[in-house]
Amino acid sequence: MALSETALEELLDGLLSDFPPSSTPPVEFLGAQFDRGLAFAHFPLGEGGLGASPSDQQHVLTRLAQVHAPSAFARNVIGYGMVAPTLVAHGTAQQKQRFLRPLFTGEEIWCQLFSEPGAGSDFAALATRAELDGDEWVVSGQKVWTTLAHESAYGLLIARTNPDVTKHKGLTAFLVDMHATGVDVRPLYQATGEAEFNECFFHEVRVPDHLRLGGVGEGWPVSITTLMNERVSIGGTVPPRGSGLIGEAMKIWQRKWATRHDAHAMAVRSELLQSWVRNEVARLTNWRASDLRRAGTPGPEGAVAKLAFAEENQRTSELCVDLLGAEGMLYGSDYPQVRPKESAMTSGDMRKAFIRMRANSIEGGTSEVMRNIIGERVLGLPGEPRIDKDVAWKDVPRS
Ligand SMILES: Cc1cc2nc3c(=O)[nH]c(=O)nc-3n(C[C@H](O)[C@H](O)[C@H](O)COP(=O)(O)OP(=O)(O)OC[C@H]3O[C@@H](n4cnc5c(N)ncnc54)[C@H](O)[C@@H]3O)c2cc1C
Repeated sequence: MALSETALEELLDGLLSDFPPSSTPPVEFLGAQFDRGLAFAHFPLGEGGLGASPSDQQHVLTRLAQVHAPSAFARNVIGYGMVAPTLVAHGTAQQKQRFLRPLFTGEEIWCQLFSEPGAGSDFAALATRAELDGDEWVVSGQKVWTTLAHESAYGLLIARTNPDVTKHKGLTAFLVDMHATGVDVRPLYQATGEAEFNECFFHEVRVPDHLRLGGVGEGWPVSITTLMNERVSIGGTVPPRGSGLIGEAMKIWQRKWATRHDAHAMAVRSELLQSWVRNEVARLTNWRASDLRRAGTPGPEGAVAKLAFAEENQRTSELCVDLLGAEGMLYGSDYPQVRPKESAMTSGDMRKAFIRMRANSIEGGTSEVMRNIIGERVLGLPGEPRIDKDVAWKDVPRS
């Protein structure tokens, strides 16, 4: 349902006049935004939404960004973009009531506990076990590349609850307290010098059954909701025209190249223009996709957006470093080994951004995997051979 433009504007005006973003603490502002259904306008009433359309939600985001209102996405990137839609699609009423509001305000940060050392692209092959003991599950295993686990109150974990069936069927999803006994979070340092992500060890961690998300053995459909939303969350935003990395490239060009008219400068200008056009095409494609999108599990357009985002970010940050010339060879800081509080998907310093963007074609599904999805689900090409499709997980050879 699309809300009338006037009704939505009135709600936004009311929020902004009762809680001016410049003088209201972020948690209070975001709490009020949630209570008025403007957190996720496309979610149902009472769950931070108004039952409106995704394009209404896009309008809310644009209007609030214009007045520099606190961003729930920036505070809790995985909770906001991936866990919230999964909770709405698969959670019980009690789970939604308990978790959605503090997730949105950023009082409880979330992480995604999917990947394992032996299960990344093929994460349905995962080996972390959960076994029922009374009304609790006992979880043991290892997760890896867990972004912001060190800041998280809760994690969305997928574990194997039945090894005797095929890999996709034996999975179950859980909402795990990251401070529970037996959870051990250790930093993994990236090429930027920062440890955004972690390896997480689970030693007989007890998870009450009421924190199971979805049915036993239904971890795969739950994961698909998370992954489809992850792709849209990473690649599907619609930033203002000419902003982000291409905006940075334009600034560097203005500063270092704009007054030059020699052949080299003309070639650089042409490269910059091509990059601008590619970034604009990606932005408009995302805009169109967000208009067509329905609430719930997004379709394969998320794979198109994610692939374009990764490739353009890498090309544009590389162009920025080229435009910087010799300056581009200096790293912008003293390379501190820190554990950031927020995901550093984008960065003001183009030299650091250039290094960080290398991960864009891996995180949230690699570009090769995105191409497979586009080939199979958009273009209708034959699927990859899947030799373990009909074999019980416990009988699949693994190293
Ligand atoms: C910055 C960053 C943050 C991350 N955050 C999280 C997180 O918060 N939570 C989480 O669970 N995970 C996270 N990940 C993990 C990420 O989802 C995985 O790294 C990714 O899915 C790839 O898995 P892998 O690293 O095991 O590589 P592999 O799956 O082993 O792939 C290795 C190579 O083989 C290629 N390949 C694999 N399968 C195929 C195929 N079928 N066809 C063609 N090529 C193929 C891949 O494209 C890749 O080039 C993060 C990763 C990064 C880099």
